[in-house]
Amino acid sequence: MITPGSESLNKVAVVGRGTAGALAAASVSDLLSGKDYQLHHIYDSKIPIIGVGEGSWPSLVQRLQYLTQLSDNAVQQFLNGTRKYGVAFEGWGHLKRDFIHYFLPQDESYAYHLSADVMGDLLQADGHAQHIDANVVGISRLDDGALVEFEGRDPERYDLVFDARGFPRKIDSRAHIDISFIPTNTAMIRRCPAVIECPVDGPALQHTYTRAVARPHGWIFVIPLTIHTSYGYIFNRDLSSEEEVEADFDRFFAIDGIAQFEKRGVIQFPNFVHRQIYDGAIARIGNAAAFMEPLEATAIVAAQLQIELILQMRFARPLEYLQRDVQMVNRFLVSSMLRYGLFVGWHYSAGSVFDSKFWRYARDFAWPKYREAVNPELVDCDALNKFEDMIELVSQPVIDEAKLSRMCGVPLSSYAQMFRGLGC
Ligand SMILES: Cc1cc2nc3c(=O)[nH]c(=O)nc-3n(C[C@H](O)[C@H](O)[C@H](O)COP(=O)(O)OP(=O)(O)OC[C@H]3O[C@@H](n4cnc5c(N)ncnc54)[C@H](O)[C@@H]3O)c2cc1C
Repeated sequence: MITPGSESLNKVAVVGRGTAGALAAASVSDLLSGKDYQLHHIYDSKIPIIGVGEGSWPSLVQRLQYLTQLSDNAVQQFLNGTRKYGVAFEGWGHLKRDFIHYFLPQDESYAYHLSADVMGDLLQADGHAQHIDANVVGISRLDDGALVEFEGRDPERYDLVFDARGFPRKIDSRAHIDISFIPTNTAMIRRCPAVIECPVDGPALQHTYTRAVARPHGWIFVIPLTIHTSYGYIFNRDLSSEEEVEADFDRFFAIDGIAQFEKRGVIQFPNFVHRQIYDGAIARIGNAAAFMEPLEATAIVAAQLQIELILQMRFARPLEYLQRDVQMVNRFLVSSMLRYGLFVGWHYSAGSVFDSKFWRYARDFAWPKYREAVNPELVDCDALNKFEDMIELVSQPVIDEAKLSRMCGVPLSSYAQMFRGLGC
């Protein structure tokens, strides 16, 4: 007899309330609404969310409207958001000229710049979850589900657990694929007053772009929100000291005419992809599943993909197919994350206007290791071939029309714009 997959989703847990956990809890509530089920949304209020993560891709606009049943304008205002039409690259590539990577259709399609720290409140408003403030000390696989162990509370069994606890404590080559062909590992964050004029009773409608400005020690993002402007200097702490980066940040602010700012801290991050994102009962999502520096704002869009694919497969496919599906879903997700990573790492391949220690390392040492890092035999998927096919395709003088809709993490149009902009 065929058992619908939805019947195996009676008790679900989401651990974490950052962007990934908040999206997962809202997606579970939506998919299982009308069904008799339990959803536990568990997070430790003493462990803060990462809170940066203010750029997105256009698919988030539709997804948030759908999940909240609010209008685009209402969602944008709740998130203190602006409309992001692409990324403006300054000083990147061989051609030494500035260019924009647009979402297509150009100047029509937009995403949000958003306050990541209110995303949980936006999504919780419509959730049906039981909220549990507790520290989770372990999530492990059982024959018929997964076990969540707590500090000071009895363990509980679930049919499916989304692990959205953020970055792994340490990167271990047995569990994680190291993608440090991406040459950065640290962000220094500052906040400045808002520069966007926003009507009192409506959303800010100006076209805005995330600025990605090449600097001697890496690059700086500039993200305009309606309540502040967020700046982040992304660099490699093994090549540049915090003092050097701080000094160059000050020089950049002087050039940009910024006198007033607040220091928001320094965040270290790994560039990695988990080898086992999904095992049938435990789904790692968000920064627990994969991370790559924020140059193309790939983290939220990646979390959307992880959550939607895993939930749809569990819900719609007969339970008898679960074990067979697990391998395919995991391989697809690992490959997708690696493709995002390759796309981001490739941005460094043409250097920048700076002939500095960082840029020589990025272009001549880190990036050339990408083939080794994603060797198909070691990562058990075809991300490398797919990526190289895209590069081959955009190198052609004319791209075959039948291939225009191809994706490799991101659409072919994004590869084509970056190829031309960087002067590859
Ligand atoms: C500098 C920087 C810039 C970024 N910019 C972007 C961007 O522009 N666009 C983008 O898409 N992404 C960006 N990101 C990525 C961003 O971090 C993620 O999109 C987002 O924060 C997802 O994080 P998360 O939800 O996986 O984890 P987190 O935000 O780290 O949340 C973890 C959650 O798990 C809970 N938790 C942790 N441990 C436990 C435990 N033991 N028990 C119970 N609960 C626990 C915490 O309380 C918290 O609720 C950026 C990241 C960095 C570092």
